[in-house]
Amino acid sequence: MGEVRVVEEPADGARAADGLVVLRGVDKHFGALHVLQDIDLSVARGEVVVVIGPSGSGKSTLCRTINRLETIDSGTITIDGRPLPQEGRELARLRADVGMVFQSFNLFAHKTVLENVTLGQVKVRRLGRAASEEKARVLLDRVGVGAQADKYPAQLSGGQQQRVAIARALAMDPKVMLFDEPTSALDPEMINEVLDVMQQLARDGMTMIVVTHEMGFARSAANRVVFMADGRIVEEASPDAFFSSPRSDRAKDFLSKIL
Ligand code: ADP
Ligand code: MG
Repeated sequence: MGEVRVVEEPADGARAADGLVVLRGVDKHFGALHVLQDIDLSVARGEVVVVIGPSGSGKSTLCRTINRLETIDSGTITIDGRPLPQEGRELARLRADVGMVFQSFNLFAHKTVLENVTLGQVKVRRLGRAASEEKARVLLDRVGVGAQADKYPAQLSGGQQQRVAIARALAMDPKVMLFDEPTSALDPEMINEVLDVMQQLARDGMTMIVVTHEMGFARSAANRVVFMADGRIVEEASPDAFFSSPRSDRAKDFLSKIL
């Protein structure tokens, strides 16, 4: 891993045993739609939680509330013991602490791969140019796209672009990484190159919340599976327990369709 640290020391006042990401009684509506209903979720430092569930169950909204791309109506969300900031530099810092990787890569099209990975370091983390470039190259090598550093995103395959997106998030030294269906937009032959990077990240101790339909990844990398339906967490279990003996009818029905 070189000089890149992924396991952070607890912030003042937060003990390692406490949840790094804690949601308590979180509710959110989109108009009349109750999209998140009384969500309680605590993710420990170094834990990998896979979130699965039918389309429309609120998985993306859940991720987006954790880095405050969406506001919540009630309840609390804390990261490392601190409530989510509302705006300004504190919010920018939160977004750096909570790395997010989307289905659609979301790289800056008019910036090179290297620039994509240095930009946030310079703007938010106030790193100098040389230090940020050095760190970017280490990370790009680590996700296997070091040779693409001077290209533009459109010159890369989807799998390569998604690995750049992961490197870009990692460059901010996030406390937790959120992945929202990171392989759903990829051609099948590129899925594993992205999952392999995520698998390695999990082994290195990164705290991760991963929305995915890749059940092989869930089985091998997750400490816990959270099953959502209709805006609620319906079931939480170890991958083994969840896949071999789901308890709820909703989970049984879901698994019968995808496995
Ligand atoms: P999932 O990721 O599990 O498929 P989402 O969190 O994307 O679910 O969506 C949950 C529900 O909220 C869906 O019914 C979706 O149509 C609705 N929804 C998501 N975003 C918005 C929005 N910005 N405005 C209104 N409705 C939304
Ligand atoms: Mg979604």
